[in-house]
Amino acid sequence: MRIIQLLLTAIMVLILSGCGHVHTWEDATCTEPQKCIECGATEGEALGHDWAEATCDSPKICNRCGITEGEALGHDWVDATCETPKTCSRCGITEGEALGHEWMSATTEAPKTCKVCGKTEGDPISVKIYDFSEYYKGYRRGAFNSDLGVFVRYKQEDYGQDIVEILDASDGEVVSSQIITYGEYDGRYAFWGNNFPYSYRLTACDKDPNHQNSRVILLGWDGEILIDDTVPINLYLENNKWNVVFTSDDNIISIVVGDDSKPIRYYNLQTSEILDPGEIDVELLGDVNTHRFSEKIDEPYDETVWSYCDYQPIIDGFLVKRASDEKWGYVDKDFNEIVIYDDATAFCELGYALVSEDRNHYYLIDSDFNKICDLEGDYKSAGMCGGNLFSVCKPDDSYIEVVLK
Ligand SMILES: [Zn+2]
Ligand SMILES: [Zn+2]
Ligand SMILES: [Zn+2]
Ligand SMILES: [Zn+2]
Repeated sequence: MRIIQLLLTAIMVLILSGCGHVHTWEDATCTEPQKCIECGATEGEALGHDWAEATCDSPKICNRCGITEGEALGHDWVDATCETPKTCSRCGITEGEALGHEWMSATTEAPKTCKVCGKTEGDPISVKIYDFSEYYKGYRRGAFNSDLGVFVRYKQEDYGQDIVEILDASDGEVVSSQIITYGEYDGRYAFWGNNFPYSYRLTACDKDPNHQNSRVILLGWDGEILIDDTVPINLYLENNKWNVVFTSDDNIISIVVGDDSKPIRYYNLQTSEILDPGEIDVELLGDVNTHRFSEKIDEPYDETVWSYCDYQPIIDGFLVKRASDEKWGYVDKDFNEIVIYDDATAFCELGYALVSEDRNHYYLIDSDFNKICDLEGDYKSAGMCGGNLFSVCKPDDSYIEVVLK
């Protein structure tokens, strides 16, 4: 009996000290269930991995334990287009730049169109011909403003005086008549603007023995003289050396003369002020509305080869006249010939020029020198008159106006 009692006591002690403790649980993991760190007893199930799907740059991965499986997917690249860079269709990451459109100029039938994607911008160009030759009889051609529907003609009334008339383009009625007196200035260097808020002229001094001064006259389209100013440089005599750049926004005009590109006059037409140009930076005036009316020679070149040279921003090259045969055409910045015609004009603001291979028929080219359309009729010369206006001379010396839009 005593022995049995001892055995029972021994069993009780064993139960209490060995299998009878309170478990100290360690949390279940992805691969192991909850487990007692003292006795190794387990409870429940392993949690299993909490997978996050593979992405472009990381493999399938467990959110909890960080274990990975397989490989990253890699980007699913879609090639760059005109407007978007190379792009991953999955994650949207981009590499490099969009290719940009490869524009073809508008023609009379089609608007400006991208060769690659076919995107279009704007409208086809319109080439409109205005024939004022009847009204110019006995007069010289002035300027034409197709937006306002008026044009200017003038003739010398007396020495040192011009009669300047503005006519309604629809019926040729004279809307304004004005006598402009330029006195000792010879008036022979005249240039008239189109597509521009003002018509204007420059005249060189004829009687000044030192040829120090020139005259700038700006005329509004209603015939009013807006500016009549003397500038201290002889525009006529220095014809081959000076640059004149007429820059404008709606209200500011500067006349820039000389190699240093500093304006010699700066006009604010809104306030009617004529300002000392001082330190005005011509670059700041912008070039969107820059009207050049002389050869702007940016680089030295061989004057025995080219007898005329006019920089053309649109082709980053020059309009030239070849000295050997007096043919006109275009050269690149290094004076390598691009294409030589019989006659060629400067490029207009829309990026087109008129050329002729026989001085009889003229056609429009774009800035890639592609033929755009023929000009109906026979002509012997053509000139670009600023903006998008060309003046084209008929065999009888009368002019037509060609306006691009
Ligand atoms: Zn335990
Ligand atoms: Zn896991
Ligand atoms: Zn991706
Ligand atoms: Zn495109």
